[in-house]
Amino acid sequence: MYTIVKCEGCTRIFAVSREQTYIICPTCGCSFRRDACTSYLDCEYRTVAVEIAARLDELIRDRSIPVTPEEMGRLRRDYQEFDQKYAEKRSVKEAEVEAEVEAEAETEAEDLETDKKDAYGLFE
Ligand SMILES: [Zn+2]
Repeated sequence: MYTIVKCEGCTRIFAVSREQTYIICPTCGCSFRRDACTSYLDCEYRTVAVEIAARLDELIRDRSIPVTPEEMGRLRRDYQEFDQKYAEKRSVKEAEVEAEVEAEAETEAEDLETDKKDAYGLFE
C-alpha cells in the first residue's frame, strides 16, 4: 500500500510506502512523520501512486492556492480509472504468467512420464 503525501518543508508531493513511519523528502531532504503530514490518497500499486503524485504535484506547483474540491474530485476519478486499468492489465499479466507456469508444469509431468517409461524400460 502506498500513500501520497506533501512535504512539510518544500510542499513537493510524492508517493511513499504506508509502512514508513518517517519520510525523507527526495527533493529537500526534510524529514517528517507520515501520520502527521498532509496526505491525499492511498494506492495499492506503486506505479499508480507515483503517477497520481506527479499529477497532483503538477497541479499545485507554482501557485499559492490549495487544490480545490473540484480538482481533487477530478483527480480521484482519474485515479480510480487509472487504478482500475492498471489492475486489469496486471491481472491479464498474472493470468499469462499462470498459464505459462501451468504449461511448464504439464511439460514437466510429461517429461516425468517419459523418464519413468525410460526407467521401466531398463528393467524390462
Ligand atoms: Zn521537501
